[in-house]
Amino acid sequence: MSFLSAPKTQVSVGSNMAPRATDSSATGNPRNKTSLKPGRSLMDWIRLGQSGQDLTGVGGKMQRVTTEELAKHNKLTDAWTAIRGSQGKQDFSQNWVSRFFEVKRYEWLQSNASITIVVYTRWRHMRQENVIIDRQNKDLCITLLIEDHLYTLHQDLCDNIDSIEVNVKRPSGKVELILTKSEPGKQWASLGSPLSKHQTWISTVESDVVYRKWRLNEITNITHDTNLYKFEPPEGTIMRVPLGHHVHAQADVAGMQVSRSYTVVPPSLEQQTPKGCLYLMVKVYPNGALSSLFGKLKTGDELQLSNHEGKFLEESLDDVRSLILCAAGTGFTPMAGLIQHSLFTHPDPDRKICLLFFNKTERDIFWRDQLDMLAQNVTNFRVVYVLSEPHANWTGSKGRIREELLQDVIPSNDEKRLFCACGPSAFTNQAVEFAKGLGCDEDSIHAFVG
Ligand SMILES: Cc1cc2nc3c(=O)[nH]c(=O)nc-3n(C[C@H](O)[C@H](O)[C@H](O)COP(=O)(O)OP(=O)(O)OC[C@H]3O[C@@H](n4cnc5c(N)ncnc54)[C@H](O)[C@@H]3O)c2cc1C
Repeated sequence: MSFLSAPKTQVSVGSNMAPRATDSSATGNPRNKTSLKPGRSLMDWIRLGQSGQDLTGVGGKMQRVTTEELAKHNKLTDAWTAIRGSQGKQDFSQNWVSRFFEVKRYEWLQSNASITIVVYTRWRHMRQENVIIDRQNKDLCITLLIEDHLYTLHQDLCDNIDSIEVNVKRPSGKVELILTKSEPGKQWASLGSPLSKHQTWISTVESDVVYRKWRLNEITNITHDTNLYKFEPPEGTIMRVPLGHHVHAQADVAGMQVSRSYTVVPPSLEQQTPKGCLYLMVKVYPNGALSSLFGKLKTGDELQLSNHEGKFLEESLDDVRSLILCAAGTGFTPMAGLIQHSLFTHPDPDRKICLLFFNKTERDIFWRDQLDMLAQNVTNFRVVYVLSEPHANWTGSKGRIREELLQDVIPSNDEKRLFCACGPSAFTNQAVEFAKGLGCDEDSIHAFVG
């Protein structure tokens, strides 16, 4: 087992290097926070760092450390880590160390017919969608998206397999990958030999964005400027996208790599996304750097799409009695998934859903037929269209987002509610502020942002 977090064979111990309290200080990114032991604070680090105590354990001298030496310090009370090639002792932030050791190992076992790889992620929100598989013959790369980290297993397998099944146990977060042997009865001497990035555990902000070439299979027109695009993954890739999450699309624009985010949507408000494809609903701006390329795509073309990202947790819908969705323009895309999920995939007759949908004109409204049909036929679904530039004969709501519109749709506090907002940042910020003003607390608000 290697503990290096950077691909270097030698690491050094600095003479005045205090162990880090959090990995956020290593990355400069506040998202990677790790809690200190109870009773500890940043001041303890400062005092410790200035105490003159030999924190390196090597008498203040620079010391070259081999990976073999590093690997010996693998106890909770004697753990060395390599951070970007530099190494420090770590016993202060027990949680971080425990998590590192818990996740950064896997087991495998075999029966006559199959190989089972087991990873104990201990993340209660782990789901099948957080496991991405890329396989080319015996080259198997498994990427686990665990909270804001990527854990990768990459092996040249000992022998051929026919298929892979992924099971995730919740809330334990135990992941089982069952590989069906091509030759049942043949015993494997090992799982295989490690390939690049095998057993790496890296924060998503520090990792390179991974792109794959997806093939455009179908284009459906939605409005005068927006289409629905169905993509199929490259052969050997299995990637399903969690509710409300997005991918990056990347293309070469005038010699520069340009990428933009797009939320994954269901094929319609009634249908769940079938396995083995994903749908994007994209508004084409003729002068937009990337969306204009969507306007030129033809079926059969390939487009680079990334691993999925996002903060929305499906569990936040549990027991919600009132779901209020506030969307402007393409901010409708995450709401489409939430509506489909709440009415069809996991229908809950006790949940009321209200979509407050802001657009310029009537012709900009996505899936209006479907929304109207649902509003007519499903008692717990309601839609309110608000237009900023309506025709003279428009009798519905007019103008922009304002408190009074939200007041009508946010119910009183006596039932569990979830308020979701998505649109241009100014719109989303305003929607969130109004929702707070109307009594929604932080836990009952989700803003979809990039
Ligand atoms: C998390 C996330 C999810 C997203 N999901 C989707 C989605 O599902 N579908 C979708 O179509 N877009 C979505 N977007 C927006 C998308 O990422 C791009 O910003 C959009 O396609 C424009 O990119 P562009 O390169 O074509 O335009 P740019 O070259 O970046 O901009 C060119 C011009 O286009 C106009 N423009 C660009 N964006 C907007 C906008 N949002 N509103 C009004 N005018 C604009 C402006 O006039 C701008 O000057 C999402 C964004 C984020 C952050």
